Amino acid sequence: MVRPVIAGNWKMNKTVAEAVDFAVRLRTAYSTPPDRRVIIAPPFTALLAVADAIRGSFILLAAQNLHEAEKGAYTGEISGEMLREAGCSCVIIGHSERRTLFAESDDRINRKLRAALTVGLAPIFCVGESLRQREDGETEAVIELQLKEGLNNLTASDIGKILIAYEPVWAIGTGKTASPGQAEEVHRFIREWIARRYGPESGAELAILYGGSVTPKNIAELMAQPDINGALVGGASLDVDSFIQLVGY
Ligand code: PEP
Repeated sequence: MVRPVIAGNWKMNKTVAEAVDFAVRLRTAYSTPPDRRVIIAPPFTALLAVADAIRGSFILLAAQNLHEAEKGAYTGEISGEMLREAGCSCVIIGHSERRTLFAESDDRINRKLRAALTVGLAPIFCVGESLRQREDGETEAVIELQLKEGLNNLTASDIGKILIAYEPVWAIGTGKTASPGQAEEVHRFIREWIARRYGPESGAELAILYGGSVTPKNIAELMAQPDINGALVGGASLDVDSFIQLVGY
């Protein structure tokens, strides 16, 4: 049984003070740690301060992106080592906003995944189809290509450190959620694909998160699906009370 994962992607939201306030309130909402992996992904500027606020707690810190190079002349970019130093244990890679707004290719995403694994960051690797691709019946082919290229040259041991997030692009920030059945179908496809390629254990142990307009209202029915092990949440993760409800779904 895969331990449920609830991850909040704050995107370009929250000042340092707001981020720390959220982290402290989340931490103090639990006298005993919840029985799930709880991850928050603040913007870069708040990582250090949030790391301080959650030190020794059950909360894990994620970054929203990294650069694949170790160091060098990449103005405005941040390396995996820097994220580790800032207290991160995870990093979101391949989010659809990075793919579409910043033209990140599958090959680039693959290099980022390998860079993250090299420094011991657990990647939350995002895949998902657009509305047109779904309507044209291309969902599985699109997901398969993203998996194949994104995970190129990774081993079963690498797969053991990765979380995959299925985020249909048409459901992100739109208020449209995939039905539990639609999401389950793709999650099962992903798990079976991983099991075929990396072995049944890799398939069984893989945490596959659903993302796309998840809220405290719809999370329980999504999480009731056998192949949905968690949620990657944008909008509804910004308010601490809403996030606490998501964690306690
Ligand atoms: C996301 O950005 O990963 C996401 C799923 O956003 P939202 O929950 O707002 O749809």
